Amino acid sequence: MDNILRNTKNSQSPEERQALSRLRQLLSEPGLLQASLFRRRRACGKSYCRCARSKRHWHASWHVGFSTKDGPRMTSIPEEWVAPVRLWIERYREAETLMKGISKLYWKRLKSARR
Ligand SMILES: [Zn+2]
Repeated sequence: MDNILRNTKNSQSPEERQALSRLRQLLSEPGLLQASLFRRRRACGKSYCRCARSKRHWHASWHVGFSTKDGPRMTSIPEEWVAPVRLWIERYREAETLMKGISKLYWKRLKSARR
């Protein structure tokens, strides 16, 4: 068998081991979300509401958004969901960064082992 396919623990670099260990830790916790979190301010449209009088009184609301190949996907969330949702998003981003890092290591491996 080619050396490159022999994937024992000993063939892992410290960099890969460290990334995998953190990734496992992240994936063992609940919640991963590929999205951005943002706050928007707008008027609700009711003529009797104070927001109709001044921009200062516009309502703030939280949104979670993400662009897909079929266009943007967005939803609003209540204030009390912001903290947990932010955590899901951070977890997703960290996991993605770790996976990209591991992928780079394997690209290097492929290139250096090419016959
Ligand atoms: Zn209003």
